[in-house]
Amino acid sequence: MAHLSLKGINKIYPNGFHAVHDFDLEIEQGEFICLVGPSGCGKSTTLRMIAGLENISKGDFLINGVRANEMSPREREIAMVFQSYALYPHMSVYDNLAFGLTLQGVDDDVIEEKVTNIAKILGLTDYLDRKPRALSGGQRQRVAVGRAIIRKVGVFLMDEPLSNLDAKQRVTMRSEITDIHRKVGSTTIYVTHDQTEAMTMADRIVVMKDGYIQQVGTPYELYFNPVNMFVAGFIGEPPMNFVRSEVGGGNISVLGSEVDISHIVSDESVKHYEGKPVALGFRPEGITLGRVENSYVFEAEVELTELLGDNTNVYVTAGGNNLILKVDPHDTPRLDDKITFSVPYKNVYLFDGESELVIERK
Ligand code: ATP
Repeated sequence: MAHLSLKGINKIYPNGFHAVHDFDLEIEQGEFICLVGPSGCGKSTTLRMIAGLENISKGDFLINGVRANEMSPREREIAMVFQSYALYPHMSVYDNLAFGLTLQGVDDDVIEEKVTNIAKILGLTDYLDRKPRALSGGQRQRVAVGRAIIRKVGVFLMDEPLSNLDAKQRVTMRSEITDIHRKVGSTTIYVTHDQTEAMTMADRIVVMKDGYIQQVGTPYELYFNPVNMFVAGFIGEPPMNFVRSEVGGGNISVLGSEVDISHIVSDESVKHYEGKPVALGFRPEGITLGRVENSYVFEAEVELTELLGDNTNVYVTAGGNNLILKVDPHDTPRLDDKITFSVPYKNVYLFDGESELVIERK
């Protein structure tokens, strides 16, 4: 296991493109960190710098307190699984798992013990004689994971390892990977653009945008205390609803209603934002149909409903805005219905309309 320190890490590619800006993060031994963000935000570049596959343009990278910027990938004692995991097609699962150890000249009986053990952890015991073409996508993925973790490494890096799998396999592999992490205990950095993967697997999530870290926190912190509109909109599915407006006399005019913002932010903030743009945010699942106390109440018209089983996504318009509301499937309204819904004050976020930073709640 390893402790990693990333201090002011920057990546400027030879063509001058600045892909990662001042990336600061301390990763504890055995932690499971997910790097998330939209395509092109610099996740893979960051991972590749940690792996030693890209040089670090500026900043310090330390493994267990020792500067590692110039260490080769091998010296870093890091294992990796990538999106495209090439198994050797002519070799059995056993030989694929054993390959790295064979190259290192490890004794055959030690290899056998390790392969047997890894196969047991990964549920591959019955497939050791098979060639990769005779495996399902999920089984192949497990072999790729097994090949990476069979060597004792301090750090385990994964770049979108589940993107080639179908939805069901992804869910299974998600829990398998967290299970393996619990058993093996290596510090793990996992790159994904899928916020659900990050929310379900990570100890802490790093949300990135345009090469900058937006927020670092536990899944709980990011969901309940996002620092800005980007994180609030990125974490959570369907995403948070946002409505922009301007403060006038302590109120904002949103969704056809006048909303008194003093219910959610301090008197100083109400004063500070007078005449300024703000954005109101609430999650689709943060609403209640009908009128509820200590809430903002809105009227809306139903445009579309999607019954998902455990809930229904209701697409509505209110005061010219499109919103998504999550409701109990038994309460699914009909198309074109006029509905009333409430958003309890505790579920409402207010953001600075210019900086897009959250305004502290009272
Ligand atoms: P994705 O989810 O699409 O893989 P990502 O967040 O992993 O995206 P990176 O692959 O790290 O993004 O790329 C970050 C930015 O750096 C992108 O704008 C990309 O075009 C750019 N980039 C990547 N590699 C190079 C390179 N070798 N030279 C110049 N720019 C590059």
